[in-house]
Amino acid sequence: MISGPQFPMPANEPEVSFRPGTEAADSLRKALEQREVVEIPTVIGGKKYYSDNTVEVRAPHDHQRLLARIHRPTESQVQEAIANSKSVARDWANLTHASRATILHRAAEIIATRLRVKINAATMLGQSKTIDQAEPDSGCELIDFLRFNAFNAQRVYAEQPLSVPTAVNRADWRPLEGFVYAISPFNFTAIGGNLTTAPAIMGNTVLWKPSEKSALANYIFYEALEEAGLPPGVINFVPGEAELTTRVALSSADLAGIHFTGSSAVFQSLWKGVASKVDAFRTIPRLVGETGGKDFVLAHASANASEVAIALIRGAFEYQGQKCSAASRAYIPRSLWPAVSQELRARLHELKVGDVADSNTFMGAVISKASYEKLSRVLAAAKDDGAVKLVSGGNTWSEPGYFVEPTVLEVSDPKHDLMTHELFGPVLSVHVYDDNAWNETLALIDATSPYALTGSIFSTDRFALHQAESVLINAAGNLYLNDKPTGAMIGQQPFGGGRASGTNDKAGSYLNLLRWASPRVVKETYLPPRDWRFGA
Ligand code: NAD
Repeated sequence: MISGPQFPMPANEPEVSFRPGTEAADSLRKALEQREVVEIPTVIGGKKYYSDNTVEVRAPHDHQRLLARIHRPTESQVQEAIANSKSVARDWANLTHASRATILHRAAEIIATRLRVKINAATMLGQSKTIDQAEPDSGCELIDFLRFNAFNAQRVYAEQPLSVPTAVNRADWRPLEGFVYAISPFNFTAIGGNLTTAPAIMGNTVLWKPSEKSALANYIFYEALEEAGLPPGVINFVPGEAELTTRVALSSADLAGIHFTGSSAVFQSLWKGVASKVDAFRTIPRLVGETGGKDFVLAHASANASEVAIALIRGAFEYQGQKCSAASRAYIPRSLWPAVSQELRARLHELKVGDVADSNTFMGAVISKASYEKLSRVLAAAKDDGAVKLVSGGNTWSEPGYFVEPTVLEVSDPKHDLMTHELFGPVLSVHVYDDNAWNETLALIDATSPYALTGSIFSTDRFALHQAESVLINAAGNLYLNDKPTGAMIGQQPFGGGRASGTNDKAGSYLNLLRWASPRVVKETYLPPRDWRFGA
């Protein structure tokens, strides 16, 4: 039940300008030049643990540059973290919503002001984002998640059953009985903020395993939570080895939920792990996972070629194509392809790939050596493939960082691996279809990939748009009309997809928060009957 202050609906956090010459750009430059190596501890119950078992964090665009060392927890420390969160669970659950929401709002203010430059710089260096990609992530979206989660929890608590003249009913919006295991991906600093605070605002305690590749920025966020007054133990920061941490978490009878964002394969393995011992848990764990995508852009013959080309560039190559929503397969009518491909070639030559500290850079490096090697292999194979024509790009280089050129491939076989598999890099596969094969192309898009995360349709023909929307009803959880398929805003486009793309619980909305509550409904009768006979 909600009592106390009401928090107004937040507005999206506006972007700060870091254009050269501004004070913000100056502070950012200084932060990027910092050479201190950060020691990232495991934090349990407010206590920091350092170990000999460390992992180095290096800048993907300058892999000689050491940024941080992660101090991994031991198996018994992961167990201790779970036990510790249990000790604080009741007190945290019993706090008012206003108390919990105040902590999230304080953290949002800290990030919006004092820590903004620091967390953006960490996201730029650790995850190789330009400021144009970092500020909307570790600045705006992270702040939005905190404020909207606080606001949306209030909406959930306000939802109450009907009462009648003879009895009063209420829903006690209890947290889950046990802890939530939050596992976050590398590609958005903000996601770690959501995976942890969405369960926490609903009164749950959380075991957080961040991605090692984003741990630097994630740890700054964690420090903001501590400074905001999050009680020790509510969220324990456990940057452990993935399989070990998961084995320990899944061995606990108190595992009440998993809040995951990452690849479909890992989420499926988590699901199987939980299913294989479902009778061992006190409560059936809630599994929420937002996973991979093979996101499409479909152009109708009526579309404007230039608008399509720009949407493809922004949609496919921002952040090196490492967004779950990135355009990675496109379907362009033959009549439009000469103009679209010409514009793609011309514009892609203008995009600068390199150091993210340079404000003219459009793309930094891909996240790791493993990703670089996989993409290099795929591009080498594409060059020898009769079904594939190189439209633009195709080069890779590994000094000083893991760089992959923005690459467009024309693929004649619409069922080719390049059209079906998520690559998570700056590679866009285009299938050119005959203008009169529009209907067949809609069916093809729907059936081509196991994913259903985002998609976009370009058309100036309203009937064509309507038809495509209907046929592709299950092909995307977030559909864009005459827009690129990326850039969802909290509160405006609640995010998530179906099929192999996850459980579609819509991050940043009240729908997600419902998964972290287990309501108890209480009926109290004013005058209990004193006779067993009906109608007496
Ligand atoms: P990933 O699956 O490799 O890793 C995600 C997290 O899972 C990391 O913390 C990692 O350490 C952990 N992990 C890895 N193996 C594990 C295991 N066996 N058990 C438990 N945890 C394990 O994904 P990534 O490379 O960090 O992120 C990229 C993927 O995330 C892409 O597939 C992308 O589409 C997806 N993604 C989806 C969304 C969405 O909202 N749908 C958003 C961002 C990213």
